[in-house]
Formats: sequence, structure tokens, C-alpha cells
Amino acid sequence: DIYLDHNAGAPLRPQVAELVCSVLMRTGNASSVHGPGRRARGAVETARTQVARLCGVPGAQVSFTCGATEANVTALSPVWKDGRGERRFTRLLVAASEHPSVAAGGRFPAEARESVPVDGKGLVDAASLAARVAELTAAGESVLVAVMAANNETGVLQPLAEISAALKESGAVLHVDGVQAAGRIAIDMEAWGADSLALSAHKIGGPQGAGALVVRRAGLHPAPLLTGGGQENWRRAGTENVAAIAGFGLAAELAAAEVAGWDEIAALRDGMERELCHIWADTVVFGAGAPRLANTSCFAVPGVAAETALIALDLEGIAVSSGSACSSGKVGVSPVLSAMGANKDLARGAIRISLGRQTTPEEIERFLAAWRRISGRIRQAGAGRAA
Ligand code: PLP
Repeated sequence: DIYLDHNAGAPLRPQVAELVCSVLMRTGNASSVHGPGRRARGAVETARTQVARLCGVPGAQVSFTCGATEANVTALSPVWKDGRGERRFTRLLVAASEHPSVAAGGRFPAEARESVPVDGKGLVDAASLAARVAELTAAGESVLVAVMAANNETGVLQPLAEISAALKESGAVLHVDGVQAAGRIAIDMEAWGADSLALSAHKIGGPQGAGALVVRRAGLHPAPLLTGGGQENWRRAGTENVAAIAGFGLAAELAAAEVAGWDEIAALRDGMERELCHIWADTVVFGAGAPRLANTSCFAVPGVAAETALIALDLEGIAVSSGSACSSGKVGVSPVLSAMGANKDLARGAIRISLGRQTTPEEIERFLAAWRRISGRIRQAGAGRAA
């Protein structure tokens, strides 16, 4: 089978699988003081250091969560602690192309949320965003902003350094969803001006069900989402998922070592897109004009519904996704592509191909051959119905 859906979930790395199983078999509760507890604590702390290294921050600034959804919802809090006391945010500004876990607005009431437009390439305009934040600040509001590093559907990279520089005067706090960026581009919270960052283990070859919220400055972090016990330095109550966290740590270490070296994959993706446009000259590649992750391609051909194409490809053992695979499996119009101003009918046909480090030219050849056949058949059937 050919797996071209790495943005939905990267295959578990074999070394990580081994570690997760061995920790699972011998783990205690990381809060216990006895030997098994201390061993579990050791595994969690090793992972904390590994994840912190991926982000270039001290370990104490990493809190483990059950995934990036939880990390995002935690960060989107109207109350943050800043060492001296509390900071309260009255407004949440969210880029229009965010993942649903950010788009839903976290713990902000609906009337406090506002969407930040993206252009046709999927990019946030730093100056317009800063102007809006300045307007709100002048009106006495305090603002939390969320802009993702790399989009899960299109791979488009937001100009985070530019955005945070433009926001500097305003005192706004910036949360960044770094899920798709991890292991694919260098994470630099300082250069990005990211006050907090969400990560997910299963996108970098770790197990499902582990993630992290990382903060840039030791004292500045959101109020916990889950309260009760004092785990994770009082930032996230609940017994740590020790085995999954250990696996996440190792995956983070391995992913960090791979950040450089996506050039071949970028070349493979670019060649694939050229061939797609060769097969159908009216192919549209979403976000093509913007800086993008090396591994992601989101495209559509008029008259080819994603649902039909997806099933046909699946029957040939080729796993791809339509729009965002993170959600329900329903194929609607992707809000990300809508925000980019894509034509609705065209957007309904959006197919996302996301390559991994192991993807080979032969696999892309086989996908392209299948695509030529399948899309040809679908278009022909459509033309037949129209006639
Ligand atoms: N953010 C982005 C950009 C994603 O692609 C995903 C994928 O599911 C998430 C957040 C949610 O992560 P998790 O599955 O760990 O909750």
C-alpha cells in the first residue's frame, strides 16, 4: 500500500514503538515516590528534555497534554499567569485558516472571538493584523492572537516573525499551532515571537494521544484547562500517559535530527505537481504561490469530486485525504480553502497528498498513474451526464 497521508498521522517509528511497549509494560505512576514511580518520572522528564530541545527552550517550559487539540484549547484561555499575577484577554483573534481545534476558539466566549482573513495564497497579512490589534487595544481590549506555523491542508507557512514583530508594540500574546511544522522546519519560538506552541506526537512518528504545550517565557502561561492534581507543575492535572509521553520524546529527538534534509521530498512533490498539471491543465494547486512545507500538496481538478476520487484511490491501495482528514471523514467545503477564496465547487474536489521522509519516487509514479486513470474516468462520466 502507498501511504500519502502523513499530515493526518505519520507512521509510528519502529524505535518509538519498541520504547512505548517497554515503558507500558513496566510503568508506575509518575507521581509515586517508590521505585516504579521514580522510573516513570524519569521517562517523563527525559521526554520533556527531548521535546524542549526540538523547540529550543528549557524543559520546564514544556507541559504534556493528550494531544495538540488539548494544547490549543488550553492556550486559548482568557486568563494567563505571568509570574506576578494574572493577565486577562478580552479578545481572541484567530487566523481564518486555523485547524478546527483553534478555530473553535478555546475558552473564549463566541462574542469575544474574531477571525483574521488570509489572502488567496492562505497568508495572514501582518500589517493588517497589527492594525486591527492596535484598534482593539486603543479601545481598551487586550488581545490574544493565534496563527499557525504550517497549515495542515495546504502546507502554507505563515510569516510568524513578521507577524510578531508587527504585534510587538501592542502587548498581544501570540499562540502558534506548531503541529505540522514539527520535524519539517526548524522551530524557533524566539524568532517566531511565539509565546506558546502546540505540538502533537502522532504527526512526527510518535504515538497517538500525546502532545505538548510549550511556552517561551518561564512565567507566562495559560491557566490550566484540567484542574485537580498538581501534575505537570500544576499546569495540567491528571496522571501522565507515561508510555505515550516517552514515545513522544523519542519521536521529537528523531524528528529534530531530520529537520534539514527535506529537499528531496520537496523536489518529489514539485515534480508531482508539475505532472498533475500536465495530466489536467486546469488543475489548481492551493497555496502554490506561498512558502509551503516540502511534503504537502493540496489540489483540485474541476469536475472531480474528492469523495469519489478518494474511494477509487483507496481501492487501489493508495491512502490520500480530502481537505482536512483530522475531522469526521465527511467531505464538505474546507473552511481553509473557503478562507482563501477558492471556488466552492472546485474546493469540494480538493485532494491532499502529504509525503513522508520514506516516500519514494516509485510511489509517486504509481499515484500519478492511478490519478490519470481515475480522474479521467470521473471526468468522462461527468461529461457523459452533462451531454
Ligand atoms: N493542529 C493541526 C495543525 C493539526 O493538523 C492537528 C491534527 O490533528 C491538530 C492540531 C490536532 O492534533 P491532535 O490530533 O494531537 O489533537
